[in-house]
Amino acid sequence: MYSFKFCHKYSLNFLGYKNLQTEEVPHVTSTSSFTSLDSNTENRKLKVERLHKEIKEEKALQVRLSKNVREIENTRMDLGQTFRKNQKLGTMTCDSDLYRNLKTSRKECNAIYSQLLSLNKSIKTKSSEMYCLNKGIHNQNEPTPTAGICLSEKSQNSIISGQAIIQGLDPGVVTTASISATKSSSMFQSINRYSALESLENCDHDVENEVTFELTAKGVNSAILDTKHMIQRQRKIKNKKELTPSYLNQRQVTRSIRLKRYYQHLHSSYRQKLFRLLGNSGKNRSVISFLGNWSGVSTYIKGHTRRSLDPFITQLKSVELDSFAVVDEYKSTVTCSSCFSCTSKQLVRRNGKIKRLKGAVVCNNSKCPRRISSKSTTINRDQNGAKNIGLIGFSSIVSIDAQPLPPFRRTFYNTHKYGDGKHI
Ligand SMILES: [Zn+2]
Repeated sequence: MYSFKFCHKYSLNFLGYKNLQTEEVPHVTSTSSFTSLDSNTENRKLKVERLHKEIKEEKALQVRLSKNVREIENTRMDLGQTFRKNQKLGTMTCDSDLYRNLKTSRKECNAIYSQLLSLNKSIKTKSSEMYCLNKGIHNQNEPTPTAGICLSEKSQNSIISGQAIIQGLDPGVVTTASISATKSSSMFQSINRYSALESLENCDHDVENEVTFELTAKGVNSAILDTKHMIQRQRKIKNKKELTPSYLNQRQVTRSIRLKRYYQHLHSSYRQKLFRLLGNSGKNRSVISFLGNWSGVSTYIKGHTRRSLDPFITQLKSVELDSFAVVDEYKSTVTCSSCFSCTSKQLVRRNGKIKRLKGAVVCNNSKCPRRISSKSTTINRDQNGAKNIGLIGFSSIVSIDAQPLPPFRRTFYNTHKYGDGKHI
């Protein structure tokens, strides 16, 4: 689906993802209310109405199944807990009945999850079809995306050779930024995985070529002596010692000098680490960074200090060979970075109550390549987001229409605006 075209020695054109779905030619149906002059539009309207009805039915079924799966999931969790407890207690007599029950309930869960996934897919396909039809009815063009970033020839070459490092930055509150970096070859693999999964082929999930990094306010504060100075000030106040302006000023200067040098040092060592771990020894060493456009300026969580991400971004922009861009992080948190299906929050049992964990997401797809290769269903929420942001940016720059992969497109499945054919 993604390809490159070699024009001449100095120019390489990116040929991107092409939507090969051809729009079905509407059939002329003989209905008595067929009064419109434009039969094409009338047919489209009928089709939209039909699709709308089908989507509604499928959504109702989806709600029913979701309720159902919650009950079965609870039973499965209960059984699993009892089984693990027995194992811990050392009762070597393995309860075969219990194990059999656990296995069947697992199977039941997976069956419903796969049913839900196929329902979800069908709803998405129908929604996007309805969206295109509605656009046609209104004589509107599909929205053109904003222009991508300009890449130097060196960067383009290193992307093609698979050597460029692509990283996604997911800004957050608890963690200032979660960063996930990988090589462009792995990114191409992800894009291929998407097309393979769409055509129901088996594919691998490469987990080795990944470097993750977390930038936290706590780490910065202790490095620039912010925390230490605060404790010293509090001690002085407690001992009723005077805090002179010169004392405060001197410390302030120390902190600001340290802050600047800290980010410089952090960035250069982090960049070196990326090249070392991802095995890039070539000449064209460039890092392309993508930042999610979330800005939780007013968000505050008690007990968590916040720091601006700007100084780190300044450093990212400072290297001539590197590139930096802000991307739309739509659906980056809720999409599994391996199989591109929808994720849900991790459920845990605390004091007999079931709670949802905010920091972890679960992929319920039993055929997820990550699940098959590493046997893990839970992923760190921020890292998953950062990975997807990197993929959004990367797929936008290599596609001819500057669009990210379909699961992350705002317009592709967004039908709320043109949802009902009756309100035309
Ligand atoms: Zn998955």
